[in-house]
Amino acid sequence: MPVYEFYCRRCQKPFTAVMHVSEHDAGVAECPECHRKDEVEKRLSSFTAVTSRKSAGV
Ligand SMILES: [Zn+2]
Repeated sequence: MPVYEFYCRRCQKPFTAVMHVSEHDAGVAECPECHRKDEVEKRLSSFTAVTSRKSAGV
């Protein structure tokens, strides 16, 4: 599953989450700091640019 980038406005911290495409379409991930979703916004991920450095397989 792809890794998505998010940003929590409450914590003012970016974070990443692995989630299914359909999950990402439906909403946002839970912030690992405050465990809330209402202050989390999606960020456009740049993960496609780092595919050459594969650290985790499928
Ligand atoms: Zn948070």
